[in-house]
Amino acid sequence: MSTIFSKIVAGEIPCYKVAEDEKHFAFLDINPVAPGHTLVISKREVDYIFDLSDSEYLELQLFAKRVAEAMKQALPCKRVGVAVMGLEVPHVHIHLIPINEEADMNFFKEKAALSSDEMTQIASKIGQNLLHSEIF
Ligand code: AMP
Repeated sequence: MSTIFSKIVAGEIPCYKVAEDEKHFAFLDINPVAPGHTLVISKREVDYIFDLSDSEYLELQLFAKRVAEAMKQALPCKRVGVAVMGLEVPHVHIHLIPINEEADMNFFKEKAALSSDEMTQIASKIGQNLLHSEIF
């Protein structure tokens, strides 16, 4: 059975897409901790990140780095924070979150309420900055 994230990659469930390459996909978290909260996933359906092969793990991290660099360009923030949990969706994903202080990484605080237009604009802005990155 395919995960909700595989259905997103297949286009069966809508998302605010940020970027894609052959093996990876990035899209906005639907319930963002902060505006621009992005999930970077491996297209291969693996539950636990440390079950990826070494090369898959490195490639995923490199893809996440490129997305984080684009986020830093596109969004006002001091840094892009990184988290991996995977307790809700059993499909490898890295959370990238624009932060200005430690408290911005708090997954329990009230989530950012953004309109569909705002989510579309943010995803597009990050994507535009990726186009200027060397790897894409
Ligand atoms: P976790 O598995 O604990 O790392 O968290 C899963 C994350 O996926 C949460 O932050 C959810 O808000 C997010 N999420 C779940 N379903 C969707 C979806 N359809 N589109 C975007 N993000 C989602």
